[in-house]
Amino acid sequence: MYRERGPGGSRLEVTSVDRKHRTSDPLEKHPERSSPSTSQAINGKESAHSILMGKAPSDHLDSARQKTNCSEESETDTEESNVSGSEGDDTSWISWFCNLRGNEFFCEVDDDYIQDDFNLCGLSNQVPYYEYALDLILDVESSHGDTRDEKQNEFVESAAEMLYGLIHSRYLLTSKGMSAMLEKYKNIDFGRCPRVYCCGQPCLPVGQSDIPRASTVKIYCPRCEDIYYPRSKYQGNTDGAYFGTTFPHLFLMTYGHLKPLNTSQNYVPRVFGFKIHKN
Ligand SMILES: [Zn+2]
Repeated sequence: MYRERGPGGSRLEVTSVDRKHRTSDPLEKHPERSSPSTSQAINGKESAHSILMGKAPSDHLDSARQKTNCSEESETDTEESNVSGSEGDDTSWISWFCNLRGNEFFCEVDDDYIQDDFNLCGLSNQVPYYEYALDLILDVESSHGDTRDEKQNEFVESAAEMLYGLIHSRYLLTSKGMSAMLEKYKNIDFGRCPRVYCCGQPCLPVGQSDIPRASTVKIYCPRCEDIYYPRSKYQGNTDGAYFGTTFPHLFLMTYGHLKPLNTSQNYVPRVFGFKIHKN
């Protein structure tokens, strides 16, 4: 087993899958995609295990980023925090997934939302091993008698991640989803705008496409209204479609008081103190 969430181990052992449909494997068709938890699982149990145990990987982000003379910068390193949600054997798959390094942008989708078939309309065509992936997300034990091997489990895990991401992008647009993301926004979970004149403005996650695997997630600054790469490369590997193109804008319409005034202060290049004449 490549994933451990407690003494009980993976419940995937009791499930099975028909391996004749290998062609629908998302990873084989799209090797360029490497969202954090997927690549960790595929690269071997060691890395996945160390992530769960909260060991810091050797490649550490440069924490000495730009220091502006603007307000607060104390929370800029919160995204470096290690995984701690994997302790205990009653952690749900959703909690476990959202606490993985790099998945800090995700909020936890309500079970009730996922269990309502109406909310999942159309997703069974997009996600391979849909039923297995859904069972995994909801921590439902499958009644199939055969066991899957480790590689098969990885494909189901990968499918579960994609399914969760696509459900997540829909959930974000509901009032409950907005509310969950509001809490994360207040905690600066999505990071701050790197632009100096935005003075550490908290950002929101956004996708450049609603189609999976088109591009990775970006952060949107409500002040300068531009998008940037997330600071963490782990977050930067997440599919942008799991957040979608609509979310930050609907969020700021819903919580209008959070939209900052656009103080259009721009940087002016100078040579020996003189503005450069445009010619
Ligand atoms: Zn900005």
